[in-house]
Amino acid sequence: MTAPSDNLPPLGVRDLAAVWHPCTQMKDHERELPLIAIRRGQGVWLEDMEGRRYLDAISSWWVNLFGHANPVISAAVARQLAELEHVIFAGFTHEPAVDVAEALIRLAPPGLARCFFADNGSAAVEVAVKMSFHFWRNSGKPGKQRFITLANSYHGETLGALAVGNVALYKDIYAPLLMDVITAPSPDGYAREPGESAESHSRRMFAPMRELLERHAHEAAAVIVEPLVQCAGSMRMYHPVYLRLLRAACDEFNVHLIADEIAVGFGRTGTLFACEQAQITPDFLCLSKGLTGGYLPLSAVLTTSTVYDAFYDEYTKLNAFLHSHSYTGNPLACAAARATLGIFASTPVIERNRELAAHMARATASLADHPHVAEVRQQGMILAIEMVRQRSSREPYDFRERRGLKVYRHALQRGAVLRPIGNVVYFMPPYVITPEEIDLLADIARTGIDAATCD
Ligand SMILES: *Cc1c(COP(=O)(O)O)cnc(C)c1O
Repeated sequence: MTAPSDNLPPLGVRDLAAVWHPCTQMKDHERELPLIAIRRGQGVWLEDMEGRRYLDAISSWWVNLFGHANPVISAAVARQLAELEHVIFAGFTHEPAVDVAEALIRLAPPGLARCFFADNGSAAVEVAVKMSFHFWRNSGKPGKQRFITLANSYHGETLGALAVGNVALYKDIYAPLLMDVITAPSPDGYAREPGESAESHSRRMFAPMRELLERHAHEAAAVIVEPLVQCAGSMRMYHPVYLRLLRAACDEFNVHLIADEIAVGFGRTGTLFACEQAQITPDFLCLSKGLTGGYLPLSAVLTTSTVYDAFYDEYTKLNAFLHSHSYTGNPLACAAARATLGIFASTPVIERNRELAAHMARATASLADHPHVAEVRQQGMILAIEMVRQRSSREPYDFRERRGLKVYRHALQRGAVLRPIGNVVYFMPPYVITPEEIDLLADIARTGIDAATCD
């Protein structure tokens, strides 16, 4: 007997008839690159409808920290689900949100005293940009309206976030819709001279940023940066000294500093927040991705009392920050975040990550000599391998050759999700990965890079 569901086309076919996927040329999926339908996840593993397993080496787009179907987080969300799924967050509050706000303020660099919730990373960037602009207006400096950004930066896809970002692939087509920003060169350490240290390169690359700050101080509201790693910009990394210099110059020229730790926060770079490595406190700290352990969309913007106080006044002055999202402070998402922060509090996550990061370095060390690898770079739990046509000249592969895609397909066949950015293969795994699983990943990456670069 045939069950009714047997008459339905496989999920992939149904999907292609109805769904439009993010960041995807849908034509790719019609023949060569079948969509993979996932049935369940457990720890670092995903399982498809046929029972094949894939090691999730990219934490499902950098969100997962403690594994899929993590029993602690799942139980916390289930408990919350039985109590309260959602309530309007204007005029009302609830324990999960207050707990998360208090915990974030406790954990974040000293001086951040207020937590504003939104529901994804791009929205957090919009909030920080609007708050900074509005702060200067409330403070009698309405001329400070422009934003300084770094080349090769990424801050999300909504129009404000896209405007302050700088990855041409995502941004250029929408240029007519975007506000004009001031762009400083990236401190990207990949561009350093042979023999130059990362620190001296980052110091040298700060000079043009300082000049821009000086020249535009009267009209600049804020500088926005991704601390230490430009993740979507091919995992390019720089030295913490850049952030120290930037903090000092922002103070000198009276410009806000927005730290977008949406990707690098929550232990990815080896410290809980990347700003810690420069011992700085930004005026705005944007968090999302790992905040809920990869369970539910939630973001937070932390800021100082100084910023908060500039909005605090009689209603009739119309100085308040009237930004909102329907699902602001969603209790389920906050319960997941509270449980995630609880894991950081109750287990030595950062210490264990140090060992895992050292293991990632050892497992991939031999790739540094590969004839088509220009650099293996690492910042804590982020490790990236830059594939090039020619190692000595660092001549890149033409993007049309899609070398990264070859690694992606190879990895899927061998049971791992490695999703290169262009020609950069990277690992950003959940923290519950084991050393043996790292060895497996390194082997899959090595054989994948061999296969992708052999012609
Ligand atoms: C992913 C990301 C964003 C955008 O977050 P979304 O939740 O995808 O909107 C912003 N900034 C950085 C640094 C990111 O990596």
